[in-house]
Amino acid sequence: METIVKAYGTGAVNNPLAAIDIKRRAIQPKDVEFEVLYCGICHSDLHQIKNDFGGTMWPIVPGHEIVGRVTQVGSEVTKFKVGDLAAVGCIVDSCGECQHCEHSLEMFCENGVTFSFNSPDAYMEGEHTYGGFSKKYVCEDKYVLKMPAFEDLASAAPLLCAGITVYSPLRHWGAGPDKKVGVLGIGGLGHLAIKIAKAMGAEVTVFTTSPSKVEDAKRLGADKAVLSSDPEQMQAAMGSQDIIIDTVSAKHDVNQYLGMLKVDGSLVLVGLPPENLEVGAFNVVMGRKSFSGSNIGGIAETQEMLDFCYEHNIVAESEIINIQDVNEAFERLEKGDVKYRFVIDMASL
Ligand code: NAP
Ligand code: ZN
Repeated sequence: METIVKAYGTGAVNNPLAAIDIKRRAIQPKDVEFEVLYCGICHSDLHQIKNDFGGTMWPIVPGHEIVGRVTQVGSEVTKFKVGDLAAVGCIVDSCGECQHCEHSLEMFCENGVTFSFNSPDAYMEGEHTYGGFSKKYVCEDKYVLKMPAFEDLASAAPLLCAGITVYSPLRHWGAGPDKKVGVLGIGGLGHLAIKIAKAMGAEVTVFTTSPSKVEDAKRLGADKAVLSSDPEQMQAAMGSQDIIIDTVSAKHDVNQYLGMLKVDGSLVLVGLPPENLEVGAFNVVMGRKSFSGSNIGGIAETQEMLDFCYEHNIVAESEIINIQDVNEAFERLEKGDVKYRFVIDMASL
């Protein structure tokens, strides 16, 4: 039977989030139901409640960095039992049959990915998916991650989106001991990129617009920090990086960062500024440089990332809040006033 679940969401753009009731589907044979313990707040949640990309489905219940404890499993589930820790990130369904699903790249499913919120719901006609700002979550076991027993479970929640979004390109573009990795923008994604790239053995340089993050970047593990408003520091960093992970959420000039790359270097966009970005031809032609992008990561790689972070003791630096403070948290996130991720303690709902 479908159940009614308490959640936090909003019915229109510029409306504050408030308590609402949502429907969760009846448990299917392969489904896992879990109580949500913690949910991170990603800048993508903010883009979606502002309808930055168009296409937001109302009412929206955001949240895609979801950690919980299993409360019920379907008759065919063997991967989980009641009481286990469980986690869900951005992907909760895909066709499972196309060339990309077959290669564990579910985020590029040719028949359409179902995201943890703001996607049509194949199980309940006329409904769309609702995210982790809710008491319970239900989805197929294939998309539920085994959550390692992190000591600080709340601060591990942001790994489910921010973590995999930087881990995947770092792996794909070969971050390692012989590589210099630049991290552009030190927010939720950026601060985890520093920690993960360091754990992979790379030398890490951060590029930040915030003077207060220059010192902090070193505490987070960065080898060097460049204040992007200082032309001398920027000049000194020219031509120095093999890979740059660009996490900036707003329109910015990528050309000056293409200049920071070595010959054959890659600037990898993971940030999602709603506006188009301009690339000058000479900035990629000279030096055979790549301007590229990356979108979260597949389910298998997300599990690999969780295990890697557990092994290397990597979690987010988080500010734990109650759900009733979520609107203030979104305002602060918009102003860049968070070091470095808000996580909601869902017991407050
Ligand atoms: P965040 O915590 O707000 O961090 C973004 C950082 O970008 C800020 O801390 C700031 O760093 C920098 N920044 C912001 N505005 C800027 C501007 N106008 N010019 C230059 N720098 C600016 O956001 P997040 O949660 O890390 O997410 C970052 C972006 O990634 C968002 O657009 C989000 O939607 C996107 N995202 C993409 C994926 C994917 O799969 N591709 C997954 C998750 C999130 P400094 O203070 O250091 O300059
Ligand atoms: Zn996200």
